[in-house]
Amino acid sequence: MSEVELTAALEQKTLELSAMQAELEETNRGVVALYAELDAQAEQLRHATELKSRFLAYMSHEFRTPIASFQSLTRLLLARTDGPLTAEQEKQIRFISDTAAEFSDMVNDLLDLAKVEAGRVEINTAWFEMVDLFSALRGMFRPVLVNPEVNLIFEEPQGMPKLFTDDRKLSQILRNFVSNALKFTVQGDVRVSAVLNDDATVTFAVADTGIGIAADAHASIFQDFVQVDSPLQKRWRGTGLGLSLSKRIAELLGGSVGFSSELGKGSTFWVTLPAELHPERVART
Ligand code: ADP
Repeated sequence: MSEVELTAALEQKTLELSAMQAELEETNRGVVALYAELDAQAEQLRHATELKSRFLAYMSHEFRTPIASFQSLTRLLLARTDGPLTAEQEKQIRFISDTAAEFSDMVNDLLDLAKVEAGRVEINTAWFEMVDLFSALRGMFRPVLVNPEVNLIFEEPQGMPKLFTDDRKLSQILRNFVSNALKFTVQGDVRVSAVLNDDATVTFAVADTGIGIAADAHASIFQDFVQVDSPLQKRWRGTGLGLSLSKRIAELLGGSVGFSSELGKGSTFWVTLPAELHPERVART
């Protein structure tokens, strides 16, 4: 190659290089701008989440007083404090009372959810025996076991050590699982069990012989406000918040939730938690 050709080729390469450099600089500027935009959007999202949590917390809190007065007034009326009731009046008052109770559950779930989202949930760990937790749950559900065709069975845990976690939060998760199982089981058993795993975690399972959940609903079942359409669903309105709340509480306790279910056969919901909750295993929200 002659010197002239070489110089021309070099000039050509230099030109190409500076074009590439200009392009790169432009790309860089684009990336920097994108980052800034992402940052701004993340900030907006954080702000929106905070506003949502605060709104939920205020709203739920404000709703509690009127709901409590509905409940106490209906109690007074049903106790015939103000005189006798006709059968129709009693029916209507019971309807108000049931609706107020449902409303109250919904408000409590929303308040809990807002607290979890705002990272304001306190975890109170203590040592406790599994059997005590099971017997408290048994006592809690005894008054609501109205269907003689469904047995609620607590299996005696075998070789279970004392647990060190937040027993009230664990109980809240199990209450959700058990009350769902009872809602969606017309006949058969609801069985609550606990096993110690090799990795020092404990799995609590609530298995039912109820209506089950169709495969296409499996992916979304732990999301907020999700309810699966079924004839039983119409009878029990619920909030669709219990499972998502249970999932978040389990994560706060360093654990996880899961389930398996077959339509028409039944479902098993479980929660696995460290048998001893150490601070470094507590999920940050
Ligand atoms: P809620 O019970 O208030 O509707 P959840 O979040 O606890 O809300 O449950 C969400 C939905 O998941 C329920 O509405 C129901 O459709 C379905 N589901 C939960 N547990 C069961 C179960 N054991 N058997 C059948 N369906 C269930």
